Amino acid sequence: PLPVVAIVGRPNVGKSTLVNRFLGRRAAVVQDVPGVTRDRISYEALWNGKRFTVVDTGGWDPKAAGLGGAISRQAEYAMKTADVIVFVVDSQVGATDTDLAAARILRRSDRPVILVANKVDDERSEANVAELWSLGMGEPQPVSALHGRSSGDLLDLVLEAM
Ligand code: GDP
Ligand code: MG
Repeated sequence: PLPVVAIVGRPNVGKSTLVNRFLGRRAAVVQDVPGVTRDRISYEALWNGKRFTVVDTGGWDPKAAGLGGAISRQAEYAMKTADVIVFVVDSQVGATDTDLAAARILRRSDRPVILVANKVDDERSEANVAELWSLGMGEPQPVSALHGRSSGDLLDLVLEAM
């Protein structure tokens, strides 16, 4: 079986956009409506000659379960099934209570967790990144999933962590 990389994080932080970046094509559904990824969907990806599986997580109904409960289930699922967890945060929004709750769970993970500061679209936005150290998940990796900024560096890190 291929190594599994799970992408976790709140709705609308750009998980599916990042998955598409990892795949080099549009497969995951991206929408402005939070929580549009209803299920966990797996894709096969290839980087530097190494194949792996990317799991775009979602799989909740925020109205029925509450966002907090949904995020903890998502995080627990990732910790059970993934070899590497990519925890995505929206750097334009900053660390929310939900992000902090997810971080508290993910900190217990015995698998490597890579903290991604997404939506760092330009150099000016780099200023938003440092505050994400407050999540206690180590160094935030700035990327723009939308424009591809630093996504290759992130993929290198993901592969190193496998
Ligand atoms: P998900 O709910 O976490 O899967 O988020 P999506 O991938 O569906 O993205 C939610 C919204 O954020 C969409 O409008 C995306 O175009 C936007 N988005 C995703 N990545 C970036 C980014 O790097 N920069 C900016 N500015 N917007 C982004
Ligand atoms: Mg999605």
